[in-house]
Amino acid sequence: MIKVFNLDKKFGDLHVLKGINEHIKKGEVVVIIGPSGSGKSTFLRCLNLLEEPTGGEILFEGVSITDNNKDINKLRQKMGMVFQDFNLFPHMTVLENITLAPIKVKKMQKEEAEKIAFDLLERVGLKDKAFSYPKQLSGGQKQRIAIARALAMSPDVMLFDEPTSALDPEMVGEVLEVMKDLVAEGMTMVVVTHEMGFAREVATRVLFMDKGQVIEQGCPKKIFNNPEHSRTKEFLAKIL
Ligand code: ATP
Ligand code: MG
Repeated sequence: MIKVFNLDKKFGDLHVLKGINEHIKKGEVVVIIGPSGSGKSTFLRCLNLLEEPTGGEILFEGVSITDNNKDINKLRQKMGMVFQDFNLFPHMTVLENITLAPIKVKKMQKEEAEKIAFDLLERVGLKDKAFSYPKQLSGGQKQRIAIARALAMSPDVMLFDEPTSALDPEMVGEVLEVMKDLVAEGMTMVVVTHEMGFAREVATRVLFMDKGQVIEQGCPKKIFNNPEHSRTKEFLAKIL
């Protein structure tokens, strides 16, 4: 579904991604772990061109998204993204947050968009919040709305950048539950997270990144129980 060839990213003199090669297949749940500053967010943001790669190529569903003729909006419709800090529009109700892109970008009728939004709200357990504003919601609720908003575009893949890192501990579980439901439905997902329990339970593959490279990867069992690389061992020793 996503093929990455020799992906390179520099911010000025800072070399953040150093030749990453990856193939994310349909239905995979890829969890990315690694120290702060290793390039996890930058990698995720390159996948949907929130950051422009400085080298290499990315194919999404067989089409190069790194050549100049790409249609960024079309691409982004097919990739849902969920951020650490929710990024909901504060001046809009929950319902308006969820229906905005389907109406504006997909030119969907308001009634249809709202029907889809209510179905999604039901799925994330927040039907009663449709007419609330983000500031009236808890962090966990905001993040579940952000997930519903991304799903409203019927994406082919969902990218998550530390979706639970800004949450109070008691709210982490409710967001992970929604994410696990998505896994059960077969959604292709790329998830940067420090939730190792989640990774162990649902990842089809774990990538360990350090200093702009994927140092080691494999099934969760291998990475967590039997890491090969000394840097992976060091990192895991600190967080587990
Ligand atoms: P964390 O776990 O703290 O979120 P990360 O692995 O996601 O870290 P990135 O956010 O990808 O790391 O950052 C990798 C490096 O690139 C860091 O040194 C960071 O300071 C730098 N960087 C990221 N975004 C920019 C930017 N827009 N301009 C300049 N430097 C940046
Ligand atoms: Mg990050």
